[in-house]
Amino acid sequence: MDCLFCKIISGDIPSSKVYEDDKILAFNDINPVAPYHILVIPKKHYDSIADVPEKDMEIVAHIHSVINKIAIDKGFSDAGYRIITNCREDGGQEVKHLHYHILAGKKLPNYEAEQK
Ligand code: AMP
Ligand code: ZN
Repeated sequence: MDCLFCKIISGDIPSSKVYEDDKILAFNDINPVAPYHILVIPKKHYDSIADVPEKDMEIVAHIHSVINKIAIDKGFSDAGYRIITNCREDGGQEVKHLHYHILAGKKLPNYEAEQK
């Protein structure tokens, strides 16, 4: 499949790895918008969160568990962080492989203000 993040998982495209296990990869975003901008992706390809079948939803819990561990490891857990998954066209999703953005390391702009 012609998917950028599948190529990162296979190693065909290099990435700056933050965490890896048999189901998940986390790596630094190439175009960071905060001091910490980490992407967390399942190794199994799903186009978006809307494309994860009910039977596979445990991967989402695992992703969140890993996000919390990364936050502690990197030292931004206490200060806080933001988790975002953009879904499909109106959500502004550019890469069609389910991914969670972790943003941290500064006081992030008020989210609701940005939407107006
Ligand atoms: P989204 O708009 O939610 O689909 O986010 C896609 C994200 O992937 C953006 O934040 C990009 O900066 C990031 N990105 C694109 N190509 C790469 C890459 N080769 N390595 C790391 N991050 C990437
Ligand atoms: Zn993929």
